[in-house]
Amino acid sequence: MKSQYLRNFAIIAHIDHGKSTLADRFLEITKTIEKSKITEQFLDQNPISRKRGITIKLAPVKMEYQGYILNLIDTPGHMDFSYEVSRTLAACEGAIILVDATQGIQAQTMAHFNAARKENLFLIPAINKIDLPTAKAEEVARDIEEIFGFKKEDIFYVSAKTGEGVGELLKEVIKKIPPPQGNENLRALIFDAEYDEHRGVVAFVRVMDGEIKKRDKIQFFQTNVKAEALEIGIFCPFLTPREDLKMGEIGYIITGVKDIRLVRVGDTITSLELKAQAPRLKPLAGYEDPKPMVFFGVYPKEQKDLPLLKEALSKLSLNDASLSISTEYSEFLGTGFRVGFLGLLHAEIVKERLKEEEGIEPLLTLPRVLYKKAENEEILEPYMKLTIYTPVSFLGSIMTVCQKKKGSLINLEYHKNSAILHYDIPYSMFIRGLASDLKSVSSGFATLDYEISEYKKADLTLLEILINDTSVDVLSEFVYSDEVEYLAREKVGKLKEIIPRQQFRQVIQAKARGRIVARCEISPFRKDVLQKLYGGDRTRKDKLLEKQKKGKSKLFGKSKVYLPQEALLPLISKNLDSK
Ligand code: GDP
Ligand code: MG
Repeated sequence: MKSQYLRNFAIIAHIDHGKSTLADRFLEITKTIEKSKITEQFLDQNPISRKRGITIKLAPVKMEYQGYILNLIDTPGHMDFSYEVSRTLAACEGAIILVDATQGIQAQTMAHFNAARKENLFLIPAINKIDLPTAKAEEVARDIEEIFGFKKEDIFYVSAKTGEGVGELLKEVIKKIPPPQGNENLRALIFDAEYDEHRGVVAFVRVMDGEIKKRDKIQFFQTNVKAEALEIGIFCPFLTPREDLKMGEIGYIITGVKDIRLVRVGDTITSLELKAQAPRLKPLAGYEDPKPMVFFGVYPKEQKDLPLLKEALSKLSLNDASLSISTEYSEFLGTGFRVGFLGLLHAEIVKERLKEEEGIEPLLTLPRVLYKKAENEEILEPYMKLTIYTPVSFLGSIMTVCQKKKGSLINLEYHKNSAILHYDIPYSMFIRGLASDLKSVSSGFATLDYEISEYKKADLTLLEILINDTSVDVLSEFVYSDEVEYLAREKVGKLKEIIPRQQFRQVIQAKARGRIVARCEISPFRKDVLQKLYGGDRTRKDKLLEKQKKGKSKLFGKSKVYLPQEALLPLISKNLDSK
């Protein structure tokens, strides 16, 4: 089967290269939306009023043009969501690869290009923002030719702002991107899913084979969940019900399933009957379970807000299947949650959503990556293949940063003005400021992308912090063994600065491998008990001094740590910086 008059495509680009603006022009040209109704970056609003902070995606949209039906779907922009990017691309036959004429190729351009190649998409290169005086279209074209291997004459020059060249580009989509092809046995790829309060999970699908009709009995391959297609429809760009979706079409299915974890991006929907024929009928390739990479303790600032936080987190997880949440207890902070995220940006988005949608600003503790234990009890940590895209002038300082962060250089590619570095480096370096260090040594020009590669042996030591002999759990963490001494001194020093003086002496210690590796003291106030005494009754003075001494030792002897939470926050709570 072939759908001659159908084209499914995506626009892939680095952030801010003009994807949404180009989509606006397409909507205009195809008269999908009246020009007067197009607010800027129209598709950034979601059909089910999705809010995804920085990753906000375009809504999928169906357009009609010159007798063809064109489905445009969007890819999430950031490296934390690379799995979702690959699933979205798998729903298309081709893509426009859009490059800002003033910026040139950047890391996400590269990453998406590679992902699209893996999915065998037909790619159309286009250079955007040619209306700007600072545009270096020629230079960028040379890079596109050299790095991606496109022919110069195949590159389009457009301005998504003025509309110049945009019509020709859309015609090229029709001409060059192949129509969908498939067989009769229903298989639909879930490339996105949303939770709707009233109707349950809405699966965004691309029908790869066969067709699906309203009220069909369906089943999900990976989760085995059975359901009924209660409503089926397309994106016009708002949800518009229809009786069926045919081979090659993109649309949505409302299933009545109430748990988004059961409707997984990458899973395959088929009919109940056909599923019974598995494994003769195979699921579509590429399914992966979401893998949390970074864990934070998430605590309410005050314990009385625990139920609120709990509710807010479970509400968010309705919409986000990649969040993993379990309860955790800290002696210092009380009850909270251990939350697993896909990466630091994902954590940041969730933190923002908690604030904006739920009005809650929780405390996030020091992050940890997911360690594994080998059979011989060794601790293993995740490594990544890190790709850095940078102007050549920052190469030296970038290499210095990566070396300091235990990276090994795998490959270095030189191009006209830019270089691409490939590193093998522990993923935990993101937690240790890798991204912000690279940004700062390159004045913001270096862009990054990563892919988790493998788990390797990690030489780690638990660095514990004791205050008056009481271990403060939220300050303890695993660190690289060769950094123990240095980090111990640094932590103890910082604590000395931020912990307020008390009536009693406070001892701060850092402990690793059973011994104290750093230590300092905060001396008490010496409350001037004699101040009130006028005149010179010696014995009375002595008595008071004696009393003060006793009082002091009593407090100290209890060894009860009195620590105002606010004082420790700068050390405990992580300032997210992922970009
Ligand atoms: P996205 O992140 O790829 O979706 O990028 P946007 O479409 O949101 O565009 C980022 C910024 O670039 C916005 O301020 C747009 O107005 C601007 N922009 C997009 N295309 C053009 C263009 O062709 N010319 C000019 N001058 N600005 C553009
Ligand atoms: Mg955008």
